Amino acid sequence: MAPGCRLEEEALAALNQAQDAEPLPARIREHLAECERCANLAEMVLALREEKRRLEAFAPVPDPAAVWRRLQRKAWNEAAAAAGRPITAVQVLAFAGAAGVVGACYGATSEWFQGLFSRAAAWLWSALPRTPALAEAMPWPWVFLGLVLAAVLLLAPAFIILVLVSEKH
Ligand SMILES: [Zn+2]
Repeated sequence: MAPGCRLEEEALAALNQAQDAEPLPARIREHLAECERCANLAEMVLALREEKRRLEAFAPVPDPAAVWRRLQRKAWNEAAAAAGRPITAVQVLAFAGAAGVVGACYGATSEWFQGLFSRAAAWLWSALPRTPALAEAMPWPWVFLGLVLAAVLLLAPAFIILVLVSEKH
C-alpha cells in the first residue's frame, strides 16, 4: 500500500465516469485488485453512488413544473378554503353561463339542431290556436336563441340550489 498511489486519480476518474452497466477499464480493474488504497477508494465511491441512488429513489428530485403546479394548486385550495361557499356559487354561475354560451353557439351554428328545433317548434305551434300570419313572421332562430337563454336562466338557479342543497348533506 503506497502512501500516494500514482493511479489513484486515474482510478477515481474512471470510477466517476463508469456507469453501472459499463465495466471499468481493464487497467484500472487490475490495479484495484492489487492496490488496497485504490480498492478502498473504489468501494467508497460505489457506496456513495449507491446511497445517492437510494435517496433519489426514496425522494426523487421533483421537476420544476410539478413544483409549480403543486404551488398553484395549494394557492387555489387556500383561496377556495378562505372564500368558502361563495366560490362554489360563482363557479356554478360561471359554468352555467359558459354552458349557455356554448349551447347558444351550438344551437345557432348546428343545422341539425336548428332543424330539430324548428320541427319541434312547428309541432308546438300547430298544437296552439292557429294564427298563420304570425307563424310565418316568427324569426325562428331568434326564438330559438331566446328559448335557450331562457332555459339557461331558469336552469342556472335550479342548478345552484341543487349544488347548495347537496353540499349541506
Ligand atoms: Zn492504487
